[in-house]
Amino acid sequence: MYRSLGCEQVAAGTTEYLERALPPEAEAELDAHFRACAGCRRHLREMRWTLDRLAAIPGERIPPAMKRRLLDALRRRGSSAWV
Ligand SMILES: [Zn+2]
Repeated sequence: MYRSLGCEQVAAGTTEYLERALPPEAEAELDAHFRACAGCRRHLREMRWTLDRLAAIPGERIPPAMKRRLLDALRRRGSSAWV
């Protein structure tokens, strides 16, 4: 039940999860996985920290394309650690 999603799928959905862009069922599945999986919880914390830092940069906005690139890089690093 907790393992209905693989860690890689969870990692791929973490950004959307933090941006609350997931449908409620998917969000609930990720919630369950985060409760059961310490590795994904750590990844979630890192992603949240990064998003907070990006949002907190004063005075100028980060171009969405750059933000997306940063998040993609994080995502790749996160998922490769579990393969
Ligand atoms: Zn996991």
